[in-house]
Order: sequence, then structure tokens, then C-alpha cells
Amino acid sequence: MARLRVKRGDTVAVIAGKERGKRGKVLRVLPGQGRLIVEKLNMIKRHQRPTQKLRQGGIIEREGTIPLSNVMVVCTKCDRSTRIAVQVLADGRKVRVCKRCSEIIDKA
Ligand SMILES: [Zn+2]
Repeated sequence: MARLRVKRGDTVAVIAGKERGKRGKVLRVLPGQGRLIVEKLNMIKRHQRPTQKLRQGGIIEREGTIPLSNVMVVCTKCDRSTRIAVQVLADGRKVRVCKRCSEIIDKA
């Protein structure tokens, strides 16, 4: 599997699927499934039975997973969706780099 380039806290742009064109913050990455959960995107309704915690039951909404291949990271520097390169600095540190503006996004 390719090195994981999307991390929790990243802003991603959805490039395919029913949420195409939207952006959101990554809440969780599920590398084993090749999917991720993005805040307020791909909301799914679930029927919830009443429990001790949730007395009412009813329908709750929560984020469904989105395939990693359907999103691109939005660069914090140039604010465009971009592919990410991983670069090794002279001192051996790895950083994520925006392929559009070549700016360092953060540590890899
Ligand atoms: Zn950039």
C-alpha cells in the first residue's frame, strides 16, 4: 500500500462520489479499509434503538466513511487541492510537500 499521505486534521476536497466539490476536516483515517471520515460529509442516517444513554432512540446522523481515493488534501499554503509528495530533508526529517506550490505542509 502506498504511504499514507492524508492525516487527521487535514482539510480535504472530495473529488469523486456524491459529495464531490465539498471540503471538510479529516476526523479519522482508516488505513486498513482505505477509507476516511470527514467532518459533516457523507452523513448517513441510522436508526437507533433507545438505550440507557439515549432514551429517545430514533434516527441519528453520523459521518460515513469515504474512500481515500475520492479525496485530495487541500494545501494549507496555496489553498488548492493537491497531490502530496514526501520529501526527505538534509537532516533526515521527512516532510509532506504540496506538489503545486512546493511548500512544506508539515512533518510526515
Ligand atoms: Zn500548495
